[in-house]
Amino acid sequence: MPLNPEIEACFEEMRDIRRHLHTCPEIGLETAGTAAFVKEQLDGFGIDHQDIGANSVLAIVEGRGPGKTIAFRADMDGLEITEETGLPYQSRTEGRMHACGHDGHTATMLTFARYLADHRDFDGTALLLFQSGEEGFGGAVKIIEDGLFEKYKIDLMFGLHNWPGHAENHIIVHPGAAMASEDRFDVTIRGKSGHASSPHLCVEPFAAVADFIGGAQSIITRMVSAHDKAVISITQVHGGSAYNIIPDEVVIRGNVRTTDSGVQDLIEESLGRLADGLASIYGVQTSFAYHRKHPVLTNSTPEPAMKAAARVVGEENVRTKELPAMGSEDFAFYMQHTKGCFVWVGNGMDSPVLHNSKFDFNDHGILVGASYFAELLKEVTRQP
Ligand SMILES: [Zn+2]
Ligand SMILES: [Zn+2]
Repeated sequence: MPLNPEIEACFEEMRDIRRHLHTCPEIGLETAGTAAFVKEQLDGFGIDHQDIGANSVLAIVEGRGPGKTIAFRADMDGLEITEETGLPYQSRTEGRMHACGHDGHTATMLTFARYLADHRDFDGTALLLFQSGEEGFGGAVKIIEDGLFEKYKIDLMFGLHNWPGHAENHIIVHPGAAMASEDRFDVTIRGKSGHASSPHLCVEPFAAVADFIGGAQSIITRMVSAHDKAVISITQVHGGSAYNIIPDEVVIRGNVRTTDSGVQDLIEESLGRLADGLASIYGVQTSFAYHRKHPVLTNSTPEPAMKAAARVVGEENVRTKELPAMGSEDFAFYMQHTKGCFVWVGNGMDSPVLHNSKFDFNDHGILVGASYFAELLKEVTRQP
């Protein structure tokens, strides 16, 4: 089956909604305006909703009778980037932009809501979640803390993201690990300051800094299996104030990505050991802090996603052998509480990359995404 004809029939209207959302991006958890707009649209469709988390909205569509509870999630937040697309619906706020396509994800979920309002012929309940703060602001965690999984026994949960570099009629399903974890670390190396001419009278911190940076890369090449995927990037080094002063303290910060939670543990432990070791080699004092920001996003239930995707775009356009992305996604937090699958919808081969000032969501994704969600709900609520 191709794209859903009823969804195609309302496409132009929903595309205009997407473009309206594009003009007014909001950042992080501060998505009150977008949430109000979403609620107004849901009211228009006759769909119940409630506030959840921080400026997030949960729409509830009851089917014809008892059955499973299936949740679908869209993110709503933009980014602090000044848009340079020159489009007629370019962001009206300098320094804010929908550069990750969450305007498109919100419009896709609204399109699905509109379709479901007239198609309650499924068993169970569909929950449509419009989430704030995906871009590193803990929007999913706020929703979980607000009791999403206590209020509803969610059997399965699904989400999608547009993906540049893939054709617009492609859906990419990753069985297993789909997107990486993201962790952040801070290392403080404390010595004793003094004159640059006399390092022997100081406790010089930079030799330890250099060894830490080199040693961190050795963790990837010497301790992580060649079959596993992991990246350690040093992203900040702060220390020193003059040409002729050896400073007291240098701070190193960095970022860790992996698609395996065992590797995540190994890297945390190894970085800590490296920092400790430098203390005994160089006589510096070190402190090490490791913050786990996003878990690995693991797709536990890819089969219904593959089937639904194949019905919408054709089996030949469902890609299942793509590598996981080393970027992270806070949908991963939901996957710690229930089963489900997160897919990518192609945003076009020539699309600028995500988080680029020239990026724009490909409106065709509304058709593909909403048709996919409609098929997916049928697939997972189908009676045995
Ligand atoms: Zn993003
Ligand atoms: Zn995004």
